[in-house]
Amino acid sequence: AFDVLIVGGGPAGAAAAVYAARKGIRTGIASERFGGQVLDTLGIENFISIKETEGPKFAIALEEHVRSYDVDIMNLQRAKSLVANSGPNNDLIEIHLESGATLKSRSVVISTGARWRNINVPGEAEFKNKGVAYCPHCDGPLFKGKRVAVIGGGNSGVEAAIDLAGLVGHVHLVEFDTVLRADEVLQRKLRSLKNVTIHTNAQTTEIAGDSKVNALIYKNRANDDIHTLELEGVFIQIGLIPNTDWLKGTVELSKHGEIIVDAKGQTSIPGVFAAGDATTVPFKQIIIAAGDGAKAALGAFDHLIRSAVP
Ligand code: FAD
Repeated sequence: AFDVLIVGGGPAGAAAAVYAARKGIRTGIASERFGGQVLDTLGIENFISIKETEGPKFAIALEEHVRSYDVDIMNLQRAKSLVANSGPNNDLIEIHLESGATLKSRSVVISTGARWRNINVPGEAEFKNKGVAYCPHCDGPLFKGKRVAVIGGGNSGVEAAIDLAGLVGHVHLVEFDTVLRADEVLQRKLRSLKNVTIHTNAQTTEIAGDSKVNALIYKNRANDDIHTLELEGVFIQIGLIPNTDWLKGTVELSKHGEIIVDAKGQTSIPGVFAAGDATTVPFKQIIIAAGDGAKAALGAFDHLIRSAVP
């Protein structure tokens, strides 16, 4: 059995693996796609000490760093369930993989990340990283002085619109529903901004462009009129879905499906820790996920040295 088994190989999992391996304990990392969301990222400019890099390059560096330690790396492995209290002394945690294999460990760090909900309209996939963006903290500065739309009037959409209004020329907030769903205080702040236009009851039908985005097309749901907003960027803010379906009924999850963790990354199950975008940790960023992975690995180590050794 492993001492620490990490499930998920993004920035959180990679940091957890390095921190665990440096304690000289048996460490394994199983992941579907080593690198995680970073693999889909074009430019990264906010990982402190690296002024500018590309996502795939960053992902290779993550893997090389992990490989420089004695870590059992199991790539292309998808976890399908977790079983606690197994083994003769009830002190092992099992991770069942879709391949049929079972991995056993004295502690586990779950770092299976999250994915942005897609709006699935023509142009979304085509213009990804060419004007279509999902993360205002990451890509906001690329649109300095330009015109953008934010799709989604929940808290994350309205927060994004307020954030972007301070950077870009003009923000269109486009909401499908007749009302915004964000907290009242955020809505008040949004309405106070001069360079924001709010479009409600507006169904985005297409993101248009040539080599880059140049318009968002929506239908007014009240009268079916079609409107075209000329702009350079579209931020899609209709939800971030944690990759935690496989944990339902075992580890305690928030109403949004995020793994609930305490200050050391401990979940509701002793010996099971979690880190990064899959958890309730606020703000989903690479540097935060990496720090969080380090913390969860140290949390797991702390748990191991306090557990009775049979
Ligand atoms: P992830 O990166 O999501 O990694 C999750 C890992 O778990 C992957 O290896 C995945 O294959 C694996 N996995 C998932 N389910 C299972 C399963 N059931 N079994 C086994 N393995 C599984 N952040 C920034 O700080 N700066 C940026 O510029 C930036 N730009 C971004 C651009 C884009 C397009 C996107 C999508 C995100 C961007 N982010 C950026 C956000 C950042 O990528 C994430 O916050 C970060 O990757 C989270 O790390 P993580 O390790 O928690 O999860």
